[in-house]
Amino acid sequence: MRTIPPGATIGILGGGQLGRMLASAAAQLGYRCHIYAPEASGPAADVAPLWTRGGYDDVAALARFAAAVDVVTYEFENVDAGPLEAIAALVPVAPSLKALRIAQDRIAEKSFVEGLGGRPAPWRPVRSAAELAAAAAAIGGPAILKTARFGYDGKGQCRFRTPDQALAAWDEIGRQDAVMEAMVAFDQEYSVVLARGADGAAVIWDSPDNVHEDGILARSTLPAGGLIAAQQAEAQALALRTAQALDHVGVLTLEFFAGADGPVFNEMAPRVHNSGHWTIEGAVTSQFENHIRAVCGLPLGSTARVGARVEMTNLIGDAAAGWAEILADPDAHLHLYGKHESRPGRKMGHVTRVRRSEFGDRK
Ligand code: AMP
Repeated sequence: MRTIPPGATIGILGGGQLGRMLASAAAQLGYRCHIYAPEASGPAADVAPLWTRGGYDDVAALARFAAAVDVVTYEFENVDAGPLEAIAALVPVAPSLKALRIAQDRIAEKSFVEGLGGRPAPWRPVRSAAELAAAAAAIGGPAILKTARFGYDGKGQCRFRTPDQALAAWDEIGRQDAVMEAMVAFDQEYSVVLARGADGAAVIWDSPDNVHEDGILARSTLPAGGLIAAQQAEAQALALRTAQALDHVGVLTLEFFAGADGPVFNEMAPRVHNSGHWTIEGAVTSQFENHIRAVCGLPLGSTARVGARVEMTNLIGDAAAGWAEILADPDAHLHLYGKHESRPGRKMGHVTRVRRSEFGDRK
């Protein structure tokens, strides 16, 4: 891949908070960002000078967008890969559409990672009533049905206790193609966030301990202790194999449950991730900067952690209204995404606290 030098224009599919933070990192490196999104505006509009409104299935508009930029990346994986072929024919797309196709389909994703030696929770595909019955018999309960595509933040999921409730659960998610998973017992959740360049060189950040509430990430804390510390190396090795098998360029995130017998793979995202937001102030190089570096063919920066303890807390719904109180803590780095309307469950911002010593350092 050729180097795309500072001064060039990076196209980003999606104009939410991830696009906003990518565009900020890109601007620091001297790039301009051009957002393509179906909405008229969004969090990324405040920091990216160019915005095209268009549908992800509008091949002509996508082609015009591609002609106006030097490289295209994306901030979320729920974009149909098919129409994006129009872009890939004109301009480099990173991460590749192969990564997008696999990561946006839970059936493909689990099969792919299993093929590389990863262990998801026991699961079965559900694409018909017959497969649902077979899955319920094999998995038993308690279990969880997740739509194969277009789910995020716990949406498109239904949990149930006994196999006879499987049909009602499938009705609940609209009888869409799905996976049925056994509910697994775990103490902790964590993620591996890595960045890989076109030359195959990869860097990995420390794994945070991620706490979810109502299916949404609430908090990421480092360093992670307990089982995470013990099994992080195994999870990292799987993430590296996955990145290599995808010939991935950019940031790749794999989420895990810390099971008693080792890492249980949950899902992956071929993009920057909420559980990597701590890297903005908590690491030498952030996930956003390294993603931009990777897709532009620049050398990757150090992922070393800065500080003894780092905690990132999401500001969900009304929590962002407490911004004044948050800023009263001189160690707090406040990020607000510029969303005009707060709704329950909506990510409005986050706050990262970096403690330089184990004992805190309000000096
Ligand atoms: P997901 O959208 O797949 O990340 O699921 C959202 C959250 O639901 C996860 O972060 C877990 O806290 C929980 N969860 C999902 N799948 C399982 C499972 N198989 N067993 C136990 N908890 C799960």
